[in-house]
Amino acid sequence: MKRYEIDRETIERIGEELSIDGIGVTTAEPFEELRAHLIHYREAGHESGFEHPVLEERVDPRAFFPEARSIVAIAMAYRTERYIGQKKPEGLRGQMSVYAWGMDYHLVLKQKLTLLAARLEAEVGRKIHVHHSVDTGPLVDRAVAQRAGIGWVGKNCSLITDKHGSWVFLGQLICDVDIEPNEPTPLPQCADCPDLCLKACPTKALVQPFQTDSSKCLSYITQMKGMIPEEYRPKLGRRLWGCDTCQVVCPKNREVSFGTAIEFDPEPEYAFPDLMRLLELSNRQFRKEFGASAAAWRGVKIMQRNAIIALGNMREKAAVPKLLQLLRQDERPEIRGTTAWALKMIDRAEHRQAVADAFEREQDEAAKREMAWAVESEGGEPA
Ligand code: SF4
Ligand code: SF4
Repeated sequence: MKRYEIDRETIERIGEELSIDGIGVTTAEPFEELRAHLIHYREAGHESGFEHPVLEERVDPRAFFPEARSIVAIAMAYRTERYIGQKKPEGLRGQMSVYAWGMDYHLVLKQKLTLLAARLEAEVGRKIHVHHSVDTGPLVDRAVAQRAGIGWVGKNCSLITDKHGSWVFLGQLICDVDIEPNEPTPLPQCADCPDLCLKACPTKALVQPFQTDSSKCLSYITQMKGMIPEEYRPKLGRRLWGCDTCQVVCPKNREVSFGTAIEFDPEPEYAFPDLMRLLELSNRQFRKEFGASAAAWRGVKIMQRNAIIALGNMREKAAVPKLLQLLRQDERPEIRGTTAWALKMIDRAEHRQAVADAFEREQDEAAKREMAWAVESEGGEPA
């Protein structure tokens, strides 16, 4: 029987002592079964652009960390008990994806992984080499977690755990230590669910079971740079960052346990940001107020663009003076262009002249295209 430097029981005990909600181990063998899927995903144009570019490194841990022997996968639940009864504060409010309601999970999980590495080192009594990642590493987090026995991948492409459903963050620590691996979780376990996630997806980004076209997913779209394509704007509703729909409808997410990490306790101003206040913030103020959130890394412009779309979708007349100011004075073309769209949504006839005037002054081609409705007749021809 193979002898391991660390056994499964020890890893579970360390996980418990570090308050890690889910922990499992797999070997550093390549994830060969992913290769064909990743090639198809790329060739079909389903990537969002956030994926690691080197295919070999996505499949084989030893392609970027040759001494790798084991991978410890961890999961941290992000819905804490304080999630219940979270109410939208007063005012015009947007909505963040639940994962961004608390502190930035990258920091929290990286801290756990650093502590975990120190515990492994103490356990084996020698200097060890590690590579840890949360979200941004080459490997496919869900595939690692599934093979490490933490959960299974649902048709909505989320990693689903028995205890916390899919409301979990994933991280992994690759190391040069021989650790006893877990059995992979059997796949799939959607059972007789009538594909609720596929039916509920607002953009049909779940193109078929287990396959997302990330370029259509609102989670990616809220983070993209530039102007959001018009077809997706109404589908965003009040969403400012991310989308929870395919998780909310999933029956496997009902009656699951809450996490206990106080770092993920919801901060109401993170969960439901004040849209008008957002439009007033400089990049510096934004970093100060939202810097500890996982939604801050793209900066204020992306969030303001999304806030303008939310106000357009809400047909919010109270926002018009601010929107007119942005249309006339803002230096950023994405903001001027998106504002022209929001004004059209709020009251096309009322704001036609203001947008037509802006069209005459506009130098940026993309922003100008957004304003063109104001100088076209109803049939789409120049008025
Ligand atoms: S996160 Fe939203 S847009 Fe993306 S696949 Fe799920 S339901 Fe669809
Ligand atoms: S909603 Fe249904 S089909 Fe989709 S992941 Fe959940 S159980 Fe599976």
